[in-house]
Amino acid sequence: MSGSDFHIQFLGTGTSVGIPMIGCRCPVCHSADLRNRRRRTSVYVSAGETRILVDTPPDFREQALTFQVPRIDAVVFTHAHADHVFGFDDIRRFNTMQGQAIPVYAQKETLAEIRRIFNYVGTVRKPGIYRPLAEFCEIAAPFVVGDVRVQPIPVAHGDGQVCGFRFDWGGRAVGIVPDCHHMPEASVEALRGVDLMVLDALRYVPHDTHFTVDESLDCLRRIGAPQAYLIHLCHDLEHATLQSELPSGVDVSYDGLVAEV
Ligand SMILES: [Zn+2]
Ligand SMILES: [Zn+2]
Ligand SMILES: [Zn+2]
Repeated sequence: MSGSDFHIQFLGTGTSVGIPMIGCRCPVCHSADLRNRRRRTSVYVSAGETRILVDTPPDFREQALTFQVPRIDAVVFTHAHADHVFGFDDIRRFNTMQGQAIPVYAQKETLAEIRRIFNYVGTVRKPGIYRPLAEFCEIAAPFVVGDVRVQPIPVAHGDGQVCGFRFDWGGRAVGIVPDCHHMPEASVEALRGVDLMVLDALRYVPHDTHFTVDESLDCLRRIGAPQAYLIHLCHDLEHATLQSELPSGVDVSYDGLVAEV
């Protein structure tokens, strides 16, 4: 683990089906390079004493075990697609270990969808019932977790209201936008000045709801971050091959990678 006071860890870097993809015989799905093994996308943000989890994919339990996630002060959701929310039930262990409900932040539509799917979530422990405990918080503007400023960044990703986030702490900032096929100028402006940017890059071929590698690189140029990582990758992208094709300052993320902000 990094010694930096402000760093992120990639808990998952794959697209919705995960890599390897069930039943696929392609070289990436059968690669011996573990960097090609991609759980569904999630990022763990550590800033000073504050720990924030971005999304709870279906792999969340295994991710928390593999990467030894110690604590969660807040969960922030980008949107309510299955690959970003279906591990939410497993925050129960953190409720038990921390002895409290965990604050959960999302925009209006996303929060409504999460509350519909997980309609059994409570705020206090009832004897004999082991369910997640969450304090749901609807967000429409920047908010604070511990001493971290968190700003929702609206982006286009299929239908519905979707966002990424900018995290500011100690004069430095990281932007994390895992699912996006178009970024409005106002959101590019809101991300300007980040020291590190994490951005969707599904594959080389155009897709209706995700950036291609080229579209992601274009967007990164607009944002102007000195360091960036591509995320939400599908099996068309082989780690070492893609890495060799990228400009300096842009790298391919992989599960478990720790990046200093
Ligand atoms: Zn996704
Ligand atoms: Zn494959
Ligand atoms: Zn999505």
